[in-house]
Amino acid sequence: MKIAEKSVVGIDYTLKNDNGEVLDSSQGREPLYYLQGFGNIIPGLEEALLDKEVGDSIQVSIPPEKAYGPRNEEAVVQVSRDQFEGVDDIQVGMEVQTQGEQGIQLFTVSKIFGDTIMLDGNHPLAGETLHFDVKVTDVREASEEELAHGHVHGPGGHHH
Ligand code: ZN
Repeated sequence: MKIAEKSVVGIDYTLKNDNGEVLDSSQGREPLYYLQGFGNIIPGLEEALLDKEVGDSIQVSIPPEKAYGPRNEEAVVQVSRDQFEGVDDIQVGMEVQTQGEQGIQLFTVSKIFGDTIMLDGNHPLAGETLHFDVKVTDVREASEEELAHGHVHGPGGHHH
């Protein structure tokens, strides 16, 4: 069975950046399951997997436009240490949630200069070209319930 819209797909994958560093991998874990055509994974990977079947391996490089988008420098904000009430140990790489006009936003602490903290609202992989090694381990049809929920149930998927 080939991967099509509404297929439930299991994949083993390794994700590397431009420098060949491994950013993420399913090695030693269960395969990742997703529902094709529902935005569960990045668009570039869905495109590359269309029409593939169990046992197929692909290598694909996905530009930011089809991954986590380009970096937006306006999403980097500067705040003062005073605003971290009750947080004693602020470190680069920490994730911080803020409640603003647009609801809850997630930032990563990107730099610290004394009492000035730089917060980056970009996705950590924004602006990156992503290099995937993917092997298809499973393809099946989605159930009505999975289609209604927009995600995979059972092994490798959601449990309610
Ligand atoms: Zn569900």
